[in-house]
Amino acid sequence: MPHQSTAKKVAVVGAGAAGLVAARELRKEGHDVMVFERGTQLGGSWVYSSEVESDPLGLDPTRKIVESSLYASLRTNLPREVMGFRDFPFVPSGKPDRDSRRFPAHQEVLRYLEDFACEFGLNELICCQTEVTYVGLETDGKWMVKSRRIGGAEGCQVTGTYDAVVVCSGHYTEPRVADNIPGIDLWPGRQIHSHNYRTPGPYQDQVVVLIGLSVSALDISRDIAVSAKEVHITTRSEAAGKLGKFGKHPIYDNLWLHSMIEKAHEDGRVSFQDGSEVLANVILHCTGYKQHYPFLHTSGAVSVDDNRVGPLFKHVFPPALAPGLSFVGVPSFVVPFFLFELQSKWITGILSGRISLPSEEKMMEDIEAFYSKLEVEGVPKRYTHQIHDIKKLFVPFEYEDWLAAESGCPPPEEWRKNMFYGTIVRTLNQPATCLDEWVDEDLVLQAHQDFMQYLS
Ligand code: FAD
Repeated sequence: MPHQSTAKKVAVVGAGAAGLVAARELRKEGHDVMVFERGTQLGGSWVYSSEVESDPLGLDPTRKIVESSLYASLRTNLPREVMGFRDFPFVPSGKPDRDSRRFPAHQEVLRYLEDFACEFGLNELICCQTEVTYVGLETDGKWMVKSRRIGGAEGCQVTGTYDAVVVCSGHYTEPRVADNIPGIDLWPGRQIHSHNYRTPGPYQDQVVVLIGLSVSALDISRDIAVSAKEVHITTRSEAAGKLGKFGKHPIYDNLWLHSMIEKAHEDGRVSFQDGSEVLANVILHCTGYKQHYPFLHTSGAVSVDDNRVGPLFKHVFPPALAPGLSFVGVPSFVVPFFLFELQSKWITGILSGRISLPSEEKMMEDIEAFYSKLEVEGVPKRYTHQIHDIKKLFVPFEYEDWLAAESGCPPPEEWRKNMFYGTIVRTLNQPATCLDEWVDEDLVLQAHQDFMQYLS
């Protein structure tokens, strides 16, 4: 607990999983926390909405943003034991109206986050329907945060000053589309980004070309295959190797895997680099999201370049603005909630004065060395924050171990690491059955033994 004099006034932007755990950690150490949330409730990505955006590709900057990218049938892609925060295990509640499956439906995750907020008294810290429009450093070293009440009078802004701002605004809202497809501008069909995919109904009897091979892409392709006439997944060939050979899917009669699109034609045909072509109605871009922080005004001290948010020391602190400005949740391909918890503990320790950061120069050196390593390894800039590599299964959790060691908490549990990788392997090898069939009962047992210390 910091001395009264070291307690800070901290603004947290966003009340998703990252913002909630950041608020919990900061408050635990006596900081004065205010959480700004532009949505009507906490939960971020996990607040499902059947509403879709007016621009199905999400390119129009004036469109009304729909926060969630969830589709109605979504079940978690990680088992609940792995997904939960360490000291608030995501175990079945035992209540009849709750989903007790290991890979529960999205509604159960939202209820888990609501339970978490309730358990730690976080609701009183959250200001919903309040969008942060400006975050900038003042000459006196304080942070100015401007916010506007959604639905309030036009032009009505509230300004506050804080010792620190923790950005937890997520990165699954601003679609990234495949815009380098030859002929796409004149292709007459419908295009949509997975951000605006909800249910398979609109794809009934349609021929759909789906770009991408992420977990959601695979999920959505199966969702659609039930009623669509044909689904054609197209992806870079090295990624396809994970799923099998190009050609017809072994289980679904109407699902094919192709190499990348070669050209979209004015008559509606879409041709692939493997020489095949289809007459398609829809192109569905499952091509990920952009990191986007329109409210940040840092005079270039932190910027986004091809999805690299930088410079950030250990994906959290911009050296020139540390420790006053920090980010929770920038990384991808991680165990999200658990990582947010570790990052939040580290940030809190630093703001409390328990943990020191290296000098600005040393942090910059570390970042430069990291960027050089990525370059030597041929990792594209857009994957700067991708922590684990799907091609290198069973690599250690180096980043998480480092954060835990810095924060003075135990490293990630062995069962969590093994369950994470085991799940990825099963997702790739048995995509249709992996949510209901598994072989890691021994790890589940270890997890539940660990949970005993947190469950009263
Ligand atoms: P978010 O949940 O996006 O929360 C950010 C919050 O910030 C939002 O509530 C938003 O309204 C708010 N906000 C943004 N800008 C502002 C502003 N200017 N002012 C005020 N508030 C603002 N993870 C898993 O662990 N398991 C899964 O199975 C899984 N499946 C997923 C499936 C899909 C389709 C997607 C898109 C993601 C999935 N994830 C999954 C990842 C998931 O997003 C993370 O687990 C996690 O919920 C992200 O939390 P966050 O707090 O970083 O961001």
